[in-house]
Amino acid sequence: LMELKDIVKSFKRGVEEMQILKGVNLTVEQGEFIAIVGPSGSGKSTLMNTIGLLDVPTSGSYMLDGVATEKLRDDQMAEVRNRKIGFIFQQFNLLPRLTAIENVELPMIYAGMPKKERRERGMLMLENLGMGKRSHHRPSELSGGQQQRVAIARALAIGPAILLADEPTGALDSSTGKEVLELMIQLNASGNTIILITHDLHIADHAKRVVTIRDGLIIGDKRNDTVPSAPLTEVHA
Ligand code: ATP
Ligand code: MG
Repeated sequence: LMELKDIVKSFKRGVEEMQILKGVNLTVEQGEFIAIVGPSGSGKSTLMNTIGLLDVPTSGSYMLDGVATEKLRDDQMAEVRNRKIGFIFQQFNLLPRLTAIENVELPMIYAGMPKKERRERGMLMLENLGMGKRSHHRPSELSGGQQQRVAIARALAIGPAILLADEPTGALDSSTGKEVLELMIQLNASGNTIILITHDLHIADHAKRVVTIRDGLIIGDKRNDTVPSAPLTEVHA
């Protein structure tokens, strides 16, 4: 599904050129659930931005679902991003003036889906995540866990090839965080490919594969054969 080869990313800081990713190689198959762990500043978010086509690497190649992304123009890259990637962030990144359902509809607008279909599909996504009754609430009227569910519904709205989550539980209390993690486990069980960035090794334990990054390099890549399979908590609306 995805292949990164020798990905290097540098940023200029004054006259200095800082290499943040120093040659990352990573292959991801469809249906995987990967946690990317590593200390603060190790390059996790920079790697996620590359995988998510939010930023281009300084060098290296990145194949996504059969597309050689390094050959794309900016507008083509945005189109591939809108079609293939679902994002979830620590701070949810919902638009505050839009209701839950309007937030979920946004990526479908970009994808050119007709209004009726958008609304129906959006409502279904929200219902599946236990948020059907909150569809007309604005983010400020929802708890953190509820906002993250709306964000997950939005990320899944266009049926992305990969779900990318950067510290999705970082802003949640631990029991709400567990519910969100449990949701991701269920989503993976129903076929979604997930890449989850986290500081939290307890959370990473629930992924099927754990990739460790340090100082811009992958220093560990382990299959997790003992993923706890029992639900962590009851998931309720
Ligand atoms: P955290 O766990 O704290 O989120 P991280 O592993 O996600 O850390 P990154 O955000 O990828 O780390 O940042 C890695 C390094 O790259 C940091 O030193 C950061 O300051 C630097 N960096 C990231 N983005 C930029 C940018 N746009 N311009 C300059 N430097 C940047
Ligand atoms: Mg980060």
